[in-house]
Amino acid sequence: MIKVNSEKLFTDAKTYFPGGVNSPVRAFKSVGGTPLFMTKGNGSKIWDADGNEFIDFCCSWGPLILGHNNVPVRNAIVEAVENGTSFGTPTIQENELASLIIENHSYVEKVRFVSSGTEATMSALRLARGYTGRNKIIKFEGCYHGHADALLVNAGSGLATLGISSSAGVPEAFTKETIVLPLNDEEAINKAIENYKDDIACIIIEPIPANNGLLIQGREFLQFLRDVCTANGILLFFDEVISGFRIGFEGAAGLYKIQPDIMAFGKVIGGGMPVGAYAASKEIMSHVSPDGPVYQAGTLSGNPVAMAAGKAVLKECLKPGFYQDLEKKTADFIEDVVSYASSKEYTFNIHQMGSIFWLAFSDEINIRKSSQIDGDSMNYFTVLHRELLERGVYLGPSGFEVGFISEAHTVEDLKHAANAFKEALDIAFTPVTV
Ligand code: PMP
Repeated sequence: MIKVNSEKLFTDAKTYFPGGVNSPVRAFKSVGGTPLFMTKGNGSKIWDADGNEFIDFCCSWGPLILGHNNVPVRNAIVEAVENGTSFGTPTIQENELASLIIENHSYVEKVRFVSSGTEATMSALRLARGYTGRNKIIKFEGCYHGHADALLVNAGSGLATLGISSSAGVPEAFTKETIVLPLNDEEAINKAIENYKDDIACIIIEPIPANNGLLIQGREFLQFLRDVCTANGILLFFDEVISGFRIGFEGAAGLYKIQPDIMAFGKVIGGGMPVGAYAASKEIMSHVSPDGPVYQAGTLSGNPVAMAAGKAVLKECLKPGFYQDLEKKTADFIEDVVSYASSKEYTFNIHQMGSIFWLAFSDEINIRKSSQIDGDSMNYFTVLHRELLERGVYLGPSGFEVGFISEAHTVEDLKHAANAFKEALDIAFTPVTV
């Protein structure tokens, strides 16, 4: 594969940006090599600055559930742009997107739009604290909720480890209110609640954890969280930035039929434009400024162009059979690759949730905690990633990240990609002879 232009662009980029990128995982640090500079996307395909073509399973890390350059979305954006890009006043587009969501999502009563997933979780966390008058939060190892200070904590195991930040620049005082617990561990939660009962504002979880592998939880665990939260006046906070509108229109809340107290959204809700949102009951949302004392604001919040894109995407998602078709396509693709890998006795599996998938270099069926993932197995991912690029298949450059399938991925695309996977797996699992 020729990478001359990407290499030159990356050399330049390194003089402009830390690590040459504007978001760290783009830097190819964990797989090695030069990040590819993309210049165009259409449907399931993307093209880089050297003209290489790829079937894209990154899909901008999740937002592009309809694929690239979807016609209704593009038309909606162009139509909105023709009337101006931003006003700093209310606009009709905000109402339209909100009503589309509220009318079709039975777990949402009121919403506030922001501009990213991080902003959504950060603001909703403030709301949880402001609403309950409590300070501490419980989060789980292996769940990512954006880069707000209080959430950048991933302390080691232990029953109720008080947070130690995983980033420089976060004062201990900011994270000592964050209790980090292992996923799928009821005892650890009971213990933390026993210790800090009257000061826990919320339990925040990715109900389908998809940032450290795909750590699918049993419904019982999520129901347990619902029950302990209700019993102790703690808010249950589902971070649905990935799962929202992706697993189904009602996301994980709808899948598991569990009503969270607060939800955060991002990615699909803006269809590739910068949109995030947080949502809750009318009662809880009445605490948000200007109705209530919890302050939160944004110059570009509810931006009309971004709202128009979100509306165009969500309208497509609401069409009958949309999510079933996506899930079936994903399952068929996975079955094709995994049956090949098992016929060759490779230690390899693909975990699936709807149109989200994750490559596991392990035979374990239920991987529910980050501690079950062997860091060394990522060496296989490095080879697989490189060989797939050579064969025109683009995965996000980290084995801990999930892949996404869009409406635009055709059966032919997926057949082509499955064959590329088989060849790449053969190379990854070929013993190296010295
Ligand atoms: N929450 C979850 C579950 C996420 O996956 C992400 C981003 N990957 C975020 C929050 C932060 O979203 P953003 O990158 O839009 O700030």
